[in-house]
This record gives sequence, C-alpha cells and structure tokens, in this order.
Amino acid sequence: MKILITGGAGFIGHHVARTLSKNAEIIILDDLSSGKKERLESIPCKLICGHVEDSKLVLQAAKECDAIIHLAAFLSVAESIQKPAACIETNILGTLHVLEASRLQPKKPHVILASSSAVYGATSSSIQSEEMSCAPMSAYAASKYQAEMLCHFYHQTYGVPTSILRFFNVYGPGQSFEGAYAAAIPKWVNHAIKGESITLFGDGSQTRDFIHVRDIVQAIELLLKPPYSSHAEGPFNIGGGEVISMRYLAEKIIQTAQSNSKIVYQPQRSGEVIHSCANISRIQKLGFTPQVTLQDGLKELVATMRAQ
Ligand code: NAD
Repeated sequence: MKILITGGAGFIGHHVARTLSKNAEIIILDDLSSGKKERLESIPCKLICGHVEDSKLVLQAAKECDAIIHLAAFLSVAESIQKPAACIETNILGTLHVLEASRLQPKKPHVILASSSAVYGATSSSIQSEEMSCAPMSAYAASKYQAEMLCHFYHQTYGVPTSILRFFNVYGPGQSFEGAYAAAIPKWVNHAIKGESITLFGDGSQTRDFIHVRDIVQAIELLLKPPYSSHAEGPFNIGGGEVISMRYLAEKIIQTAQSNSKIVYQPQRSGEVIHSCANISRIQKLGFTPQVTLQDGLKELVATMRAQ
C-alpha cells in the first residue's frame, strides 16, 4: 500500500505516518510552515517539501497512491479571522488539488479529509451530531466546511472515494506548546510543569471534547481497511465523547503535574464556542471506540513533556 499524507510533518501527521509506515510506503507533502523535519527522523518515509496549493506537485506526490490523508491546513481559528484569504486559499484550494489528484488517476486513491468540530459553530445543543446544520464562525471553520462539500461533490460526480473526519480537540505528545495559537492542553501542561499560572477565559464552565492523537490514528486506520477502504464518506465526529469543562481540565492538569500553579481568570473571549462535545455514535457503528482516557493521556503527556 502507498499512502500520501499531506501535513505529515505536523503534530497529528507524524503520529499517523509512524503507525502507517509499519505496513505501507509513506509519502509526505509538507511545506514545513508549522511542521518539523526532525519529527520524521525515525520514520521511514519520503518527504516532499512544498505547498498543497501547488496542483502539479500534489498530483506528482499522489501518483499511484492507494490513499491520501489530507491534514495540511491553515490551522488557527483566531489567525484565520485576521487572514481569511490565506486560510481559504490553503484549505479550499489545497483540498481541491488533493481531490483532483485522485480524480485524474485510473485507480482513484481514497481521500480522507481532516475536518473539524469548528464547522458546527455555536449550536443550541451542547452535544454535536453530524445531522445538525453547521454555522461556521471563522474563515477556518468555513473553509473546512467547504472542503467537506468538495469531497461530497467529487464523490458523487466523479466517484472519488472520500471520507470526512471531524476532529474535536486533539492532544498528545509532540504537540506544540509555544506561540499565541498553541492549544490549551500542551500550553497548560507546560505552565504547570514550570509552576506558572494558567489563564482561563470566562468562568471555565465552557466545555470541550478531548481526543488523544492515538485515537485519531485508530480512526484513520479503520478507514484504510476493508470494508471502508473503498469509501466511507461521513462526516464522522471523532472525539472522546466526554464533556470536559475547561476549569476541570485546568485543575486536572495541575493535579496530574503535582504543580503549585494558580488559575487566573480573564474575561470571556468574544466569538468563542461555549459548548462542544461529539456524539460519536456514527463512527462507533463502524467499530471505533476511543482507547485513551483523559486521565491516562494527561499522565503520559506530563511525563513526556517533563522529560524533554
Ligand atoms: P499541525 O500544524 O501540527 O500540522 C499541519 C501540517 O501541515 C504542518 O506540518 C504544516 O507544516 C503543514 N502545512 C500547513 N500549510 C501547508 C501547505 N499550504 N502546504 C503543505 N503543508 C502545509 O496541525 P495538526 O494539529 O497536526 O492538524 C492536522 C489537521 O487536523 C489539520 O487539517 C487540522 O485542521 C485538523 N484538526 C486538528 C485539530 C487539533 O486539535 N489539532 C482539531 C480539528 C482538526
């Protein structure tokens, strides 16, 4: 089996590449904008440095592949509001080129799209199911939703096999903890290890659904095997299916790291989704069950980051 992973030098991508490289030839297309070459040092793979906006390069990288796992993206919700055009270009054009790279080959590779829970926007329900209508609140969310629509269109019109995965909040070893756009878990674990304060926006009652990166890999592996290898479509929510408040998360991290860090409260950020949790019954019907509990995942992450 030959697999192209766009964004394979990124946080999720390198975990996917490491696991899949045990049984497949791996090609990675990554412009290294946030990805790191060092992550791939011990992984047998071929790295092609370049942008997913480059249609010729994507087609060349996807040649004779059985599957394309499309992870490369303009990722930050907040930054996408500042730079909507750049986000839309990468996420929509990039997906278009990936789908074209499948359509233009005799054996059309299965395209697995990394979409996001952000597509739901502010829903009236605290639990999100795939049947709900979407109301994207940022260029990032809108571009992911449009990328999903392109997948449906390419499947219906050209028979390109596609699967859409809506990741919720992914965490695990190797995730960046620095910079303005770092995710809460790696940032807070880093602060807790150093005994620095943890900033919570609002009263901390907002909720999220956290999923360990190994469970993301598990979901992708499931879709690469029969009977789903030839198309599963979706969208599928990929989350832990557990409601976690941000205050509980901060306290749990402080407790796990045995830290003296204090929680500092700041005013609620405007435009923030208040409640986000995945109904995962659709992907569960395909045989997916999250394996890593938040408690175990945090314990492992604290140990890994402490050792760095
Ligand atoms: P990441 O930033 O670690 O990885 C993204 C990778 O894509 C990086 O290696 C980067 O260098 C590469 N890249 C960015 N723009 C590119 C371009 N134009 N051309 C080629 N390569 C490019 O992010 P991640 O957390 O690993 O996310 C992977 C995917 O999962 C993204 O599509 C993201 O939207 C989706 N996702 C992630 C989360 C999460 O919690 N991490 C949640 C929902 C969805």
